[in-house]
Amino acid sequence: MTGRVREAAWAVGGGVPDTVTGFLRALGGPAVLRVPGRDRTRVRAISTLLHGDEPSGIRAVHRWLKDGPVPATDVVVFVGAVAAALEPPGFALRHLPGRPDLNRCFVTPCAGEEGAIAAEALETLLAARPEALVDLHNTSGRTPGFAIGRSARSGLLCLASLFVRNFMDSRGRSIGSLVDAVGDRFPSVVVECGRMGSAEADQVAGQGLARYVTAPDLWAACLPDARIQVLGDPVRVLVAPGTRLAAAHRPEAGVDLTVLPDLDRWNFSDVQPGQLLGWLGSGRGWPLRAWNDSGRDVSRELFVPTPGGEVRVARPFSAVMFTTRPERAVGDCLGYACRRLSPATPGSPTPR
Ligand SMILES: [Zn+2]
Repeated sequence: MTGRVREAAWAVGGGVPDTVTGFLRALGGPAVLRVPGRDRTRVRAISTLLHGDEPSGIRAVHRWLKDGPVPATDVVVFVGAVAAALEPPGFALRHLPGRPDLNRCFVTPCAGEEGAIAAEALETLLAARPEALVDLHNTSGRTPGFAIGRSARSGLLCLASLFVRNFMDSRGRSIGSLVDAVGDRFPSVVVECGRMGSAEADQVAGQGLARYVTAPDLWAACLPDARIQVLGDPVRVLVAPGTRLAAAHRPEAGVDLTVLPDLDRWNFSDVQPGQLLGWLGSGRGWPLRAWNDSGRDVSRELFVPTPGGEVRVARPFSAVMFTTRPERAVGDCLGYACRRLSPATPGSPTPR
């Protein structure tokens, strides 16, 4: 332990600052909060603010600590990128400039501060031996809330159903995140509550968190008839390195690809052949990449150029996390093309 992650005991209702910013200032940096519950023999874990511009989770935690209720079991909460979140104007930076993304530092620890924070937080969370972990995030584009798990097994669907009705099966592909590092030690899911800054996303986080902390038996809390829509086989759609990208309703001059500025309306819908993605610029060749499980680029199976310079959808897929922000599309990805699997019924009580 290097002491980069502070540990603090907080009781529900006990002297919590009025504003979420005041609360983050009181934490002073990455922190693990220990909140006593009615049953002191069991623990549930929450992590949030691993990205400094994703406020729904920390807002929900703050409101819960201020107003209650007392949780059914002890709860440990890891709050990550406090410094990035506090940078003016607040909740504007995913991570501090020039520093790595904290949520890529858990499996192979990054050098420096973020690596040390990730290692320490992981050690603390594993040592707590929680029944489950829920990691609360926001997306940059409009989307219904959804969960991401390493497989669509019943324990993870159950956990997800406390928050959302959509689930993406990542098939265990690691991005170095906290949930990847936890692996199969205990059930853990990422919950993408919805677009950062939206009231709907804050509501998904708040209502889900209340269900998660108050359920006397977590595995009985998911309604037997709750149905979760499961998407799988995600193919990450990228723009080729060096691509100049714009988002607009008509082709922009001087760029390689213009995408429609409301691509996020695709999210969790079934995208059909012929739908317009955008327009090619002149000259620089095919700007899209989409790597499937075998490492083959299937971008030309998903999308097709027209003689008039448009790019249209070539085969149906279910869209997840399509973004409207060019800098996010270039730095990360444009979105994921998934396959809709049959709806599953969560509620099988035993996480395996
Ligand atoms: Zn995030």
